[in-house]
Amino acid sequence: MTGDHIKTLMGLQAQTPVLMALYDQHDRLQFANEAFRTAYFVDAEETPTWADIMRRNHAAGRGTVLSTNDVEGWIASTIHRRGKVPFRAMETDLHDGRWLWMTETVDARGYMLCVAVDITTVRVEERALRQDRDFALRASQVDELTNVPNRRHTMGRLGEFIANCAQNPHMWGCVAIIDIDYFKAINDRYGHHQGDEVLLDFARQMQEFVRRSDCFGRIGGEEFMLILPDTTISEGNMILDRLLDKVRSARPLASIPEFYYTCSVGLAEYREGDGVKDIYARADEALYLAKRDGRDRVKRYTLPGSDPELRPDQAP
Ligand code: GH3
Ligand code: MG
Ligand code: MG
Repeated sequence: MTGDHIKTLMGLQAQTPVLMALYDQHDRLQFANEAFRTAYFVDAEETPTWADIMRRNHAAGRGTVLSTNDVEGWIASTIHRRGKVPFRAMETDLHDGRWLWMTETVDARGYMLCVAVDITTVRVEERALRQDRDFALRASQVDELTNVPNRRHTMGRLGEFIANCAQNPHMWGCVAIIDIDYFKAINDRYGHHQGDEVLLDFARQMQEFVRRSDCFGRIGGEEFMLILPDTTISEGNMILDRLLDKVRSARPLASIPEFYYTCSVGLAEYREGDGVKDIYARADEALYLAKRDGRDRVKRYTLPGSDPELRPDQAP
């Protein structure tokens, strides 16, 4: 390196926002650039030890944020870890709000070069990225109108339910498809906006029937799915009958106090060997029967001769 290069290097270290410092084997500061001295309040002609810098800055409420009230204890324990390995790096935050990525490089004699860069904005971007990701994830799972799980998410949960049942012989449960009756007529008569209000009301009515282990989601325009693990088809039937009572007595349109609506339910239980499509198809078939038989009712899918009152693990 020529004298000119050394001059250039010295010029740049004085100018860079990167913090640079050199400590000797006694942990005394022998050199620090402008960025370092500003961050740690060290005058140009000073050569304090690292412990002095920590101690006096802590007393003044500046410099490194120490997560302790016992400064001397913290300094003592940190000294034991300083300069023990050729290189280490860590995150440090300063009282001025900055986050630093601090590196320590140690030579054979025990001299230590400290170089630190400001990563405050990097962390903020990460934070924003994390928030964006969480927001996108939520948007991909939740129905915009009713705020319940959307079709994609609900179908995923149905797949998990089926897989659980297939893996565990003591797991069973049933699946209901719930469809609002004559919904097209509601839209036609009262308008799309009132139709939306009915959908919202339905999702709200549903809240008290959904346990933590259940999944309730919107799988189509006015079509919903309720997954009920650990529930026999007759238990499911009782739950859904109560839901139908509740829906029937709701009066969701403030401007049309006499308005009420109903829904129909198709219910199917898990059967060994089921795939998502199988149980869905059976629940759908039961729903068709509920519509055909006059709506506002629950229909179970049952094979001729099967006894729906028996739990699968109680079957002879
Ligand atoms: P059924 O009793 O046999 O179920 O008859 P239905 O009228 O409820 O069923 P159909 O499938 O004929 O009509 C469903 C209607 O739901 C048609 C569609 O315009 C409406 N719809 C779908 N999504 C929405 C929505 O987000 N908001 C509103 N207001 N209407 C919707
Ligand atoms: Mg309908
Ligand atoms: Mg429908």
